[in-house]
Amino acid sequence: MITLKQMETWMIETHRILQEKKDYLTQLDQAIGDGDHGINLVRGFKEVVGNLSAQSSPDIGTLLRNVAMTLLSKVGGASGPLYGTAFLKMSTALKEKVEASPEEFARALAEAADGIQMRGKAQVGDKTMLDVWKPVADLAVKQGSRLSWKDLLECSRQHMETTRDRAAKKGRAAYLGERAVGHLDPGAVSTCYLFEALVKTLTREEATG
Ligand code: ADP
Ligand code: MG
Repeated sequence: MITLKQMETWMIETHRILQEKKDYLTQLDQAIGDGDHGINLVRGFKEVVGNLSAQSSPDIGTLLRNVAMTLLSKVGGASGPLYGTAFLKMSTALKEKVEASPEEFARALAEAADGIQMRGKAQVGDKTMLDVWKPVADLAVKQGSRLSWKDLLECSRQHMETTRDRAAKKGRAAYLGERAVGHLDPGAVSTCYLFEALVKTLTREEATG
């Protein structure tokens, strides 16, 4: 089972990775956007982590809802509302859960991916964060109770890489269209970090019991 404590650790780990990769995300967004993606996300997740102790959440749903609210108010840009929606959808899917099974978590990821798609109106292949969210959620749902975190991470990394060869159809990068080919999508990369942090957290806790 996935615990409330692990979900908190996921947020701390995400902030740590984003902090470490902030300059890289800035470079990626400078190439095909406006260069603020790393800064936006680090600002948001710093606040998320700061709020963990201030707002002690009784269950996973409440925790993820608080995360969503913080991201919605602090991140800004295109990615703030999209990440905010993703966490809001996950929070609803995991409402009042103190623990979640892999299947329940997989369904929450699927809700998040659908939420991003509904809000951003992108299709898979448009070179956005959805290019990672959607296949990862699909894989998680397909594996269900046999969910392999290693497979999930592999899937996330592979699909992040696919954004390099695509023309951008949504967001700021869409102004570049074909000229965005050859560059990774910053939101796909940050989504990959979110899943790296998740898998790192869950496999570490599993290993130590
Ligand atoms: P902004 O583009 O407003 O500066 P950010 O730099 O924070 O916002 O985020 C850019 C990322 O947001 C992109 O790399 C892309 O992954 C994602 N994005 C932008 N528009 C959409 C959309 N319509 N649907 C899904 N993701 C999107
Ligand atoms: Mg930007």
